[in-house]
Amino acid sequence: MAGTLYVVATPIGHLEDITYRAVRILGEVDLIACEDTRQTRKLLTRYQIATPTISYHEHNERQRARYLIEQLEAGRSVALVSDAGTPTIADPGLTLIQQAIAHNIRVVPIPGPSALITALMAAGISAEPFLFIGFLPARQSARRNQLEALRSWPYTLICYEAPHRIRAALKDMLLVWGDRQVVLARELTKLHEEFHRGHLSELAEQFHQRSIKGEIVLVVAGATTAEAPSQRPTTHVQSSIYQRVMELMQANALSLNAAIKQVSQERRLSKKSVYHAYIQQRPQERNDGG
Ligand code: SAM
Repeated sequence: MAGTLYVVATPIGHLEDITYRAVRILGEVDLIACEDTRQTRKLLTRYQIATPTISYHEHNERQRARYLIEQLEAGRSVALVSDAGTPTIADPGLTLIQQAIAHNIRVVPIPGPSALITALMAAGISAEPFLFIGFLPARQSARRNQLEALRSWPYTLICYEAPHRIRAALKDMLLVWGDRQVVLARELTKLHEEFHRGHLSELAEQFHQRSIKGEIVLVVAGATTAEAPSQRPTTHVQSSIYQRVMELMQANALSLNAAIKQVSQERRLSKKSVYHAYIQQRPQERNDGG
């Protein structure tokens, strides 16, 4: 009979944040597949677990998944862990889980911490509904395009960000989304855990002055009804691309091309992405035969 693949969440900082069940499973399985065996060793040592480990990370994912499936098919049980938190949440694991499902191997989740839920728990911003973005793109143009695509979603938005990109991320969020409520959660469950709460303009200003270190989650309020395109203020920071293009065409008598070019300069987006957003946001013509 085939073994079971356990997907086990591990602490994101404080080593006591692990369930009794996770500790038991890690001690009982035949093999633990780890993103970094040295990192997981610290946790195993803390709980006196002697189970053999093997590396499983983004660079050997395919080949290692094949080996682990062979082990599972031979009746061995495997626990999959990442360096911190929940596997597959901005971490490797999906390939192995998909292959296990394809081979009819039982996949059992052992729940525990994840930084996004931990941040949300104390953010003081509604969790319903929320959208997890993972890491924003590192390149400015790609990042702004993604923020633009998320601008009108009435969902609390959660993303992971590297400390050296926080300043740029806050600035771009302010530029594209306007001045929304934000919580920056840093070093969760660790000695220097802290929450910075305020508006994007305040945090952008605060972190313009000083650098920040450690692991960070950003929780940002979603678009409100008051921000729906028809009621949105018409400053070029907050208006939709469609509205801003129309405003330039009507008030400044610009051609569509010239308006697209100006908006692309104002928002530092490519002309192509501004044109795409303009088409997307343009009200649909009614075609109800009436
Ligand atoms: N699998 C993990 C989870 O379930 O949250 C996430 C792994 S991802 C590679 C690492 C990122 O998660 C960090 O760059 C940071 O944005 C966030 N993160 C992880 N641990 C954190 C912590 N203790 N405090 C704040 N953010 C954390």
